Amino acid sequence: MDREEKKSDYQKLEERLSYSSKNIWKEEGETAVKKFFDYGEEYKDFLGRAKSERLIVKWILEKAEKRGYRNLDDSQEIKPGDNLYALNRKKNIALIKIGKNPIEDGVNFIVAHADAPRLDLKQVPLAEEVEIALLKTHYYGGIKKYQWLNIPLAITGIVVTKDNKSVEIQIGLDENDPVFVIPDLLPHLSKKVQSEKKVNEFIAGETLNLVFGNIPVKDDKVKEKVKLAVLEKLNNEYGICEEDFISAELEVVPAFKPRDVGIDRSLIGGYGHDDRVSTFAAVTSIFDISTIEKTAVTLIVDKEEIGSEGPTGAKSLFVFNLVGTIIEKIRGSCPGNALRQTMQRSVCISADVNAGINPMYKSVHDEKNAAILSHGVVITKYTGSGGKYSANDADAELMGKIRNLFNENGIYWQYGGMGKIDEGGGGTIAKYLASYNASVVDCGVPVIGMHSPYELISKADLYYAYRAYKVFFEKA
Ligand code: MN
Ligand code: MN
Repeated sequence: MDREEKKSDYQKLEERLSYSSKNIWKEEGETAVKKFFDYGEEYKDFLGRAKSERLIVKWILEKAEKRGYRNLDDSQEIKPGDNLYALNRKKNIALIKIGKNPIEDGVNFIVAHADAPRLDLKQVPLAEEVEIALLKTHYYGGIKKYQWLNIPLAITGIVVTKDNKSVEIQIGLDENDPVFVIPDLLPHLSKKVQSEKKVNEFIAGETLNLVFGNIPVKDDKVKEKVKLAVLEKLNNEYGICEEDFISAELEVVPAFKPRDVGIDRSLIGGYGHDDRVSTFAAVTSIFDISTIEKTAVTLIVDKEEIGSEGPTGAKSLFVFNLVGTIIEKIRGSCPGNALRQTMQRSVCISADVNAGINPMYKSVHDEKNAAILSHGVVITKYTGSGGKYSANDADAELMGKIRNLFNENGIYWQYGGMGKIDEGGGGTIAKYLASYNASVVDCGVPVIGMHSPYELISKADLYYAYRAYKVFFEKA
């Protein structure tokens, strides 16, 4: 009160007329902070286990089934209040909550992606060099290759065998498992091969090979003795042979667990916040809503990091067909105009992370238009690069709707774009959902060190992503 009285008229005018986002820790007290930390614990548990899109879909499906969600395909008649899920190729999952309003009023979508930059094993990955067995990789998504050297790595995925059996492989995720490493070159000898080269050239893609084994078979008639020994071990443990790798999807991901970062434990360091933080918030928020007017859908897509291609990416007709199926199950049939109308009246949050200002590299951001850690979820009107190329560019009406919704419901949010003009750029799934004539806006948490093996987010932002998505489902 005292402080209020001392404010000058112009100070009050400034408060009324100027825009600034707020530091959540500064605004909130102990009770709120406890909620941020508790939610952070749940998230760390998820992030540490679900290190691939397949594992994420599996994790979500288990939680949904426990909560009584039914498979849409097996449900005959559906009605308001029903909780359903739909799967696509074990890499997409949609959680659906049917609202009271006719579905033709539109659906509220939150779409996040479960894939993250990583190294995939090549289809013929095994090699032996100087009596060391290696696994060759092909990187996936936008990585800085040097960040993947000399860190503990795990392998996760499936192998389809000659009898069409799908064998799951997870090595390195459990504390007691061995891990794998891509060894860098010692500084003593790296002058010509590395140090004199440009940073994007000094690590060749073909050198991203994992050390996989070192014990040879004891038979001098065999040429590649270590390679054969690891193949024998793989055959004994998983029943696979070398040709089976051709029909495998094995991803190499950082083996370390998410941890609290900072003496105050305000941040979480972990692999794959982009975009598993949005995935987690989108899933837990739809779980926690009660009755709603508009039908709510949380959709988890794949392949965002390589352009949303393929049947499991956001460009696929999966979402369009899914809404068609929902209409059909509600009305008994799905006329084309009902589907088109539903899509064009739908509103979609493209739930993806944005770049938080890294204090060591402030120069790449226009600070007035950039996200600050712990200032809440970031609303982004457009992404893209250059003169807004490849941007969805959400319209002012939608920006207004979301901003006002968040303001009216006590959501900490901030505006943030992707760096200074012509500094670089990036994109999200926003434009692919918008191609159905739905209204789409980007909204997610700020991340520092995005696409690195150990990205940073704030627990306060994480919590407000959950709250923002929940408010969107309940009230948009
Ligand atoms: Mn992303
Ligand atoms: Mn990304």
